[in-house]
Amino acid sequence: MPLEITSVREKPDIRSLTGKELEDYFRSRNMPAFRAAQVRRWLDEGVRDFDKMTNLPLSLREELKKSFRIFGVNIEKKLVSGVDNTVKYLYALPDGETVESVLMQYHHGWSQCLSTQVGCKMGCAFCATGMGGFVRNLTPSEMLAQIEAAQQDTGVRVSSVVLMGMGEPLENFDNVLAFVTGLAAPGGVQIGMRHISLSTCGLVDRIYQLMEHRLQLTLSVSLHAPNDELRSRLMPVNRRWPLSQLLQACRDYFTATGRRISFEYAMIDGVNDTPQCAAELASLLSGMNCHVNLIPVNHVAESGLHRSGARRLRDFQQELSRRGINVTVRRTLGADIDASCGQLRRGDQ
Ligand code: SAH
Ligand code: SF4
Repeated sequence: MPLEITSVREKPDIRSLTGKELEDYFRSRNMPAFRAAQVRRWLDEGVRDFDKMTNLPLSLREELKKSFRIFGVNIEKKLVSGVDNTVKYLYALPDGETVESVLMQYHHGWSQCLSTQVGCKMGCAFCATGMGGFVRNLTPSEMLAQIEAAQQDTGVRVSSVVLMGMGEPLENFDNVLAFVTGLAAPGGVQIGMRHISLSTCGLVDRIYQLMEHRLQLTLSVSLHAPNDELRSRLMPVNRRWPLSQLLQACRDYFTATGRRISFEYAMIDGVNDTPQCAAELASLLSGMNCHVNLIPVNHVAESGLHRSGARRLRDFQQELSRRGINVTVRRTLGADIDASCGQLRRGDQ
């Protein structure tokens, strides 16, 4: 299967220079140091294009374009699927940390899966990101830069985003809120709330906090088990916020926002994919206005967990459907580049 692996070295990101370094850059070209302050002001105002820095002479803008990029992230590594147009990026942040992001083509346009943290504290048993521990939160501009870098690299326009990359978005609440509310701003990437999905492992207090903002985004909740015993084994967060409280929060969220909740359920062979699990899940969700996404679990070496077979998957789906639950099996994109997040960074590919 054709697989393109590219290691990309870019021009330096101008935002990674200190004030002094930027002044030195201008001085070394016999230009006044106040240009540094002008550039910095544009950057602080969110301008990401040297051509829009209209108080700089044209020749200087051209020179800056040759010397620098204005992204908060650099493409460190890039994998292009040979089976579909999926692209997976490993981005380097200014401090040298790395995060992953995946660009996917659907019939309605391009969707990008973004990271919200470097690593994650939540320690889910099946997740490569969780296994690496937590490093730090991403800033709103580092989230935005993931989109800008992919658009610039591929020339496509990203029309929807899912916060399903590395990290737990609701743990990084303020930055994620600033990011999603800024996405539709004029002059930016212009992605409306209805084209944003936010996925959480189920931080109940934060779901209520998000509810207060009455956003029109889609809330996805990672469920992965139909009872507390199993869910606590797979997802430690369940010991803090058990299913009864999580589902009550989801019902309240729907009532307050009118937005249907989407539940993610990773199908793990012999663990959560039995007919009994399907029946339990159907009872748990009965009467709720929701949607269930079944995802064959991606194999992560240390987890010892494997994806369910096609037959188990089909039986599970049919049982939920039969019991009146909206259910789909997520299309696998980028199968040859293992497009789920957390593995590229750990050097598994
Ligand atoms: N922290 C958030 C969002 C990032 S994880 C959350 O947990 O929801 C995005 C999705 O990928 C979640 O539904 C998560 O459960 C799922 N996921 C993690 N590891 C996976 C794996 N190995 N296979 C399939 N899905 C996985
Ligand atoms: Fe964190 Fe989500 Fe992975 Fe769990 S599944 S460890 S919450 S990124």
